[in-house]
Amino acid sequence: MKKIFYITTAIDYPSADPHMGHAYEKICADVIARWNEKKGKDVFSLTGTDEHGQKIENYASKAGKTPKEFVEKQTGKFKILCKKLNIRNDDFIRTTEPRHTKAVQDIFKKLEAAGDVYKGKYKGLYCTDCEAYYLEKDLEEGLCPTHKKKPNLLEEETYFFKLSKYQKKITKFFQQNPDFVEPAIRKNEMLNRLKDEVRDLCISRTTFKWGIPVPGDDKHVIFVWVDALTNYLSGAGYPGAEFKKRWPADIHIIGKDILWFHSIIWPSILMSCGLDVPKKVLVHGFVNVGGQKMSKSKGVVIDPIALCDKYGTDALRYFLMREIPFGEDGNFSEVALIKRINSDLANDLGNLLHRVSTMTEKYFEGVLPKNAAKNKLYSHMVSQLGQKGLTASADRCMEAFRFNDALDEIWKVINAANKSIEDTKPWILSKEGKTDELAAFMKVLVDILMTAAENIYPFMPDTANEITKRLTEGSIKKGKPLFPRIEESEDTR
Ligand SMILES: [Zn+2]
Repeated sequence: MKKIFYITTAIDYPSADPHMGHAYEKICADVIARWNEKKGKDVFSLTGTDEHGQKIENYASKAGKTPKEFVEKQTGKFKILCKKLNIRNDDFIRTTEPRHTKAVQDIFKKLEAAGDVYKGKYKGLYCTDCEAYYLEKDLEEGLCPTHKKKPNLLEEETYFFKLSKYQKKITKFFQQNPDFVEPAIRKNEMLNRLKDEVRDLCISRTTFKWGIPVPGDDKHVIFVWVDALTNYLSGAGYPGAEFKKRWPADIHIIGKDILWFHSIIWPSILMSCGLDVPKKVLVHGFVNVGGQKMSKSKGVVIDPIALCDKYGTDALRYFLMREIPFGEDGNFSEVALIKRINSDLANDLGNLLHRVSTMTEKYFEGVLPKNAAKNKLYSHMVSQLGQKGLTASADRCMEAFRFNDALDEIWKVINAANKSIEDTKPWILSKEGKTDELAAFMKVLVDILMTAAENIYPFMPDTANEITKRLTEGSIKKGKPLFPRIEESEDTR
């Protein structure tokens, strides 16, 4: 049985509209998925929405809607986002779907059967916006560190999962699988936290209704993490035949704020159920705007759908992957985006394609002679300009999730090609009638663009396809600019 390469994003909480953080995570996952597909793997990629919980209940009632109506509308926006961003997700899982409910209740029963669930009383300081209890020591001046709101003291009867039982096993798992969490800085954070006492996890609630009932005790709904994390199983077809080909997931890509849940709680749940643990949890940083974490309450929100409409999907995808070293926090600004479009896309890549197309049309009526690559100028230039080793060096970066470095490798070759036009001066070769050399040189440039397109594909699929199409279908002609330059006006500053 051939194992399918299975990659997931976290599922989004649709209480508010999609923002740049959602877009960034989906693009990262899509780049990895497309690259693996290009390398010949069968890929299954999953994204979706986490639609239960008190916050949804609250937002829905504020909007004068039922929770179901509310999530219906909100989830639609996340689906539009995926489409706009050209994300090749193979499925979109919603935690309100029957297939998910079934899987969650099944997992709950498995945890019970393993003797890992007990009923107890939970008392704590609870932030409704986080849907989480806080320890006194984790509050900032008595307030929730995220929402700057005073949490309520809450006591309720809940079910608990014996997370503490898995502390040693998980610690050992981390030691035996040093690449389980990447980057290493995040893994070390978790290993440090594992040195402290790990408390059992509250897995049910009686304070709200909008969720999946605990099997056999429907006063309780299953609380966020058992519900949400199980999407990785239900979305992969659990427990059917397809699931067996997909599980364990190869990569869960997530933000650093939910790493504890994915690297400690999730593996514990899976171990308790007798299921394999995912191969990797890959952690990205935050996209900030003007140095601030994006957040609706602070008014720092940029609509990625509007940006795709304004600047183009590939431009946005390129910008985020080039500008933010994976794993680190990055900054978004329209000024920086426009700069990247004008310099890297319009000037470097777009201009190279334009010059190559124009000259091929002008000197060879769009068709290079068949033996153009036989001239020794060809082999000399191809190795000198770095085209030959490009795919290998880009692959090395991709394997290490250094996406910006992969793009940097590609752009080095693009820039070398542009410079070689200045140095070689094909117009002089033409004037002097050196047709063989001219053909060889043009062929070098065409091949460099083809190799660049191949490596650009995971990042900018439409652009890569367009370049390939222009250079392979019929005769090569001067076409429309790939990326028109954008005026840097005052209002985008
Ligand atoms: Zn909070």
